Amino acid sequence: MGGRLEGRTALVTGAGSGIGRATALLLAQEGAHVVATDIDAGAAEETASGAGGSMTVLAHDVSDAGAWERAVAAAAGAGGGLSILVNNAGIAPKATIEQETLEGWRRVHEVCLDSVYLGCHAALPAMAAGGGGSIVNISSVAALRGVAVYAAYCSAKAGVHMVTKTIALHCGRRGYNIRANSVHPGPIDTPILDPDRERFGQRAIDARAEAIPLGRIGRPEEVAQCVAFLASDDSSFVNGTELVVDGGFCAK
Ligand code: NAP
Repeated sequence: MGGRLEGRTALVTGAGSGIGRATALLLAQEGAHVVATDIDAGAAEETASGAGGSMTVLAHDVSDAGAWERAVAAAAGAGGGLSILVNNAGIAPKATIEQETLEGWRRVHEVCLDSVYLGCHAALPAMAAGGGGSIVNISSVAALRGVAVYAAYCSAKAGVHMVTKTIALHCGRRGYNIRANSVHPGPIDTPILDPDRERFGQRAIDARAEAIPLGRIGRPEEVAQCVAFLASDDSSFVNGTELVVDGGFCAK
């Protein structure tokens, strides 16, 4: 299947790795012009080099309001106007509520949650002016299930879950023709798991897999397929909701 996003421009954050990379590549394969941004522009360049089509690459720290203005301007000016925003960039340092420092707590919220505010705040006028589109915010199962060692991360991802609904409601009231949904991956095999892998080896992955009814952790491409669905007209009546992509983890 291909071509569902022909003529559209998509801005994908954290596109230099993992889920963001797989998403940028799939949206490009579906015909979108992708603006692939990452705090590490070199990593986003690597993503673009695998695309085989046109991708615009930008260095972009999602916690920086000024960088958001530049990224949205680039996407809005990239032929066809901005109609798809994927707020994907995130960090997941481990700390319980007792271990977490105020600085660490704030950084997780800046990167995982403030970024969604900044991105939507900056992009909505351009998306509305262009006739609408789709916002996909990457949350986590950590928004739906508490995890003791991810205090700040659970908090930030729960914020992403709920703010997404407010965006959908706001856009509906304003008649923007913009849908907003959140995606909630379970454990996915990306570099975000590397600190655990380095510390505990394969055991870290096996323990996660055991908790999943499908018996394995997910692949970034499996999340990307869900993002592409929400970005495309295939999901034209799906709005203000959450898509859990977790192999059944949350079914318990
Ligand atoms: P990943 O492979 O580490 O990719 C995240 C990307 O975001 C990296 O390229 C990272 O750059 C970049 N990034 C970090 N801070 C940034 C910032 N301030 N501004 C812009 N880019 C920044 O992780 P992933 O697993 O693909 O995660 C993608 C999203 O899925 C995140 O929101 C994550 O919370 C969510 N998620 C992941 C899982 C999972 O198990 N993998 C599960 C649930 C939800 P650096 O590498 O240079 O830091």
